[in-house]
Amino acid sequence: MSSESIAERIARIRATLPPTVRLIAVSKYVSAVEMRAAYNAGIRDFGESRVQDAEAKKAELQDLDDITWHLIGHLQSNKARKAVQIFDFIHSCDSLKIAHKLDLLGKELSCQPRVFIQVKLWPDPQKHGWEMGQLLADLPELDRCGSLRIEGLMVIPPLGLDSGKTLALFEQARELAGTIASQKWSRISMQHLSMGMSEDYPLAVQAGATFVRLGQILFGDV
Ligand SMILES: *Cc1c(COP(=O)(O)O)cnc(C)c1O
Repeated sequence: MSSESIAERIARIRATLPPTVRLIAVSKYVSAVEMRAAYNAGIRDFGESRVQDAEAKKAELQDLDDITWHLIGHLQSNKARKAVQIFDFIHSCDSLKIAHKLDLLGKELSCQPRVFIQVKLWPDPQKHGWEMGQLLADLPELDRCGSLRIEGLMVIPPLGLDSGKTLALFEQARELAGTIASQKWSRISMQHLSMGMSEDYPLAVQAGATFVRLGQILFGDV
């Protein structure tokens, strides 16, 4: 099993995904060498959880200029400027405070940060994100963040949730996105759902994910 190459793993996993699902290779545990192998196997979306790591790897891979960079980890305000400059998508917009910060940076840098609203649909003290009630209350304020392009919701299930509950949680995320989309917002789009990791991505795809974020299953145990 461990003799399978990165390219073989990618081909095998990709074959199980519907064409509507975009595969983000989460490269947070690997070096630019493995990322280049993944790129050569057709990957163009990479996910990193730390701004500094992405900055270093982007420099090493600067000859590969058609990579789309995704931030998937919690973002601190003091790294937000760099994040806006490095990443094409920020999946971890997890509070009104960071949304406001990204909005200001978008105005200042004349760009439109593309963000996902990270939601927490299950109590989980380890995770950041909006609880449903709070998000519904904050939507008008988010809709006033004029420079942001809000693409959809991002969700991470708590560790150890069984598969029935995990599927229910992903379906709840899709329903919440549907509810939000049915309201009249000028800036908030709910086109995308960022959900599904190595352990649970088939359930996420079943529930309507449009971006899956896979690390371990593509790169192996490193
Ligand atoms: C690490 C991470 C992933 C990838 O996890 P794997 O289990 O390695 O597939 C996906 N999403 C987020 C937010 C992560 O932090």
